[in-house]
Amino acid sequence: MDCTTEQDGMHYEGSCIRPPSEAYSILLQVTTGCSHNKCTFCGTYKDKRFKIKDDDIILSDILFASKYMKRQDKVFLMDGDALIIPQKRLMWILDRIREHLPWVKRVGAYGNAKSIKMKSPEELIALRENGLGIIYLGVESGHEEILEKICKGTTAQNLIDMGRKVKAAGMKLSVTVLLGIAGREKSLEHARATGRLLSAMDPDYIGALTVMLIPGTVLYEEYQQGRFELLEESETLMELREMIAETNLTRGLFFSNHASNYLPVRARLPRGKQEALDIIDAALKGEVGLRPEWMRAL
Ligand code: SF4
Repeated sequence: MDCTTEQDGMHYEGSCIRPPSEAYSILLQVTTGCSHNKCTFCGTYKDKRFKIKDDDIILSDILFASKYMKRQDKVFLMDGDALIIPQKRLMWILDRIREHLPWVKRVGAYGNAKSIKMKSPEELIALRENGLGIIYLGVESGHEEILEKICKGTTAQNLIDMGRKVKAAGMKLSVTVLLGIAGREKSLEHARATGRLLSAMDPDYIGALTVMLIPGTVLYEEYQQGRFELLEESETLMELREMIAETNLTRGLFFSNHASNYLPVRARLPRGKQEALDIIDAALKGEVGLRPEWMRAL
């Protein structure tokens, strides 16, 4: 989505993204860019430097939403990790949402390991009590070597700890993992390590995306130089199969319905695991149609 500033409208800057599940939410841009902005595969915020937007702009957008977005009962705080906003200011934003958008039932935001670490357990609880109900966390892989290679800036254990911290505060936790990010050689190792991480973290939702090459990113260069190999469709399916097989949740939803994926799978775990594996097996045998390459998108 490319957004432009509109007088008396929402003050969006640059390209804006949100999780698929926030498609119908009020998109309130409280930061621009991503405070990390180093992941080798990500080109999302290359066009902007990270900053927290001015309070008067944020308030103006909330007031605009209060007039024109009365039918949307969720708010998503864009851009990248809005959770990094200092506690007092973030509480102020949530207060203004409660004050002017009283019909809103849930606020969501991206977080990363660093921004979750910076909040104390008590601060996270206070945010939840003030309406922040879900954190979206990009995990990408549970494989240490891969996390380092893609410059995720954290370790698998830290991701597990930070995910658990969000859940302990009573918030919902939604994570994304990236199929194909380990290339061909480490594909199944990445799948198993990621399944183990997910089992230990036990998030509410897991969204699997498939890696796509974005010009201008480090990963794109690595591919051009022959240092990164993209998986074939069947290899991606094998990786997804291995990851689901290795993932044991108390109660959660594993889905791969993002437009970047070849095969949409939606499995309620633990109950739906075998059914999901059977669908993937059928796809591997050619009995289920895959999304053609030209229809894949981020
Ligand atoms: S993947 Fe997420 S954390 Fe990494 S650079 Fe992109 S927005 Fe930032």
